[in-house]
Amino acid sequence: MVPSLTIPKRSNTPVLQLLELVFPMHEFNICQNIVDSVIAELEKHDPVPRLLKTRVVIGKLRQLVPEYLQFAYENLTKETLAEGSTLVIIQKPVIGKCVACGWQGEMGSSGFGCGKCGSATAEIIAGRELYLESLEIEEDDDE
Ligand SMILES: [Zn+2]
Repeated sequence: MVPSLTIPKRSNTPVLQLLELVFPMHEFNICQNIVDSVIAELEKHDPVPRLLKTRVVIGKLRQLVPEYLQFAYENLTKETLAEGSTLVIIQKPVIGKCVACGWQGEMGSSGFGCGKCGSATAEIIAGRELYLESLEIEEDDDE
């Protein structure tokens, strides 16, 4: 007879699934898209260059948490062509333009109204950015 001792089972959940549970899915999915584009870009070159940095531009309206993105990036690039590279996040402020007075400036601190005349007719003209800005690769003497 095997003694009926309850030993908690070790989770054999794959790492990716665990990450999805820990992270908000939003950052995880966006980071997967970034990593996919980066790898696709690297694969265009022969030989594949060593990637040092990936720069992404993210508008604050995206409400992404940079730390989560960094952590997701680190994990998603493991054992890929982008392994060991650093994610550089360039955050863009939310810029609004007032329809009433023509004021243009950063929004946020004073809500989504005009920073000058207080009108609520300001349009958001920047802050939704989300794109891969550039890749920094290791310099090669061959070229
Ligand atoms: Zn105004």
